Amino acid sequence: MVRKNACVLVVEDDSRMLRLEQLTLEKEGYSVTLSQSGEEALEILAETNPSLVLLDIGLPGMDGFTTCQRIREFSQVPVIMVTARDINKDKVRGLEFGADDYITKPFLASELAARVKAALRRSSSGAEATSPSFQCGDLVVDYAKNRISKRGEEVLLSSTEYRLLCYLARNAGRIVTRDQILERIWGEEYLGESHLLHVTIGRLRQKLGDDPKRPRYILTRRGIGYSFATEPVAVPVQAGSSASGY
Ligand code: CA
Repeated sequence: MVRKNACVLVVEDDSRMLRLEQLTLEKEGYSVTLSQSGEEALEILAETNPSLVLLDIGLPGMDGFTTCQRIREFSQVPVIMVTARDINKDKVRGLEFGADDYITKPFLASELAARVKAALRRSSSGAEATSPSFQCGDLVVDYAKNRISKRGEEVLLSSTEYRLLCYLARNAGRIVTRDQILERIWGEEYLGESHLLHVTIGRLRQKLGDDPKRPRYILTRRGIGYSFATEPVAVPVQAGSSASGY
């Protein structure tokens, strides 16, 4: 269930757009905090604890990409990037900087409401634990503490990355298809949006220190999906292994 009193931090410099987003979200029952710059948004985020950030890319001063990157240095809050027009490059870039989803201007109020609701639903569903922890070599997923560590060092993940990792880890040794992952982690309305998955897997591998060409943990099953290794794959792997690339 999505908390109806969830607070959304909206970051947008265009006051007309800001007002529109505010009205839409308030109509859905969320409380809304407004900010017109990335710098200010970071301060608000550090002081308050919003449930979600709606973040425009085109901002004066620090742009949305950098703001998102800075947010990820200390927070797992779900971030929806607002991109101008249908620029694919921007969508992928936003995801690479740690955003959980994006919405393209111009959008309908109903579309914004649906994206926000879906993101809040995902973040509140958390990761269901079947055992208290999972270990693959030097990588430990502590479900109870929501903590990932590698060689004892904590690895900071966004909420989407964390949920994705937990889902793969819980299915370690089994192949999960791209659509199974998209449906589980993002929701059924995201089926087919495989670039979301590719970029998030790429980011996750990077944080785990996993080389996409020779992954040790998250293995690519070409044309099908991914599987999490039960034991880290020894490096170097033979060239032409089915586990290479993504
Ligand atoms: Ca703007």
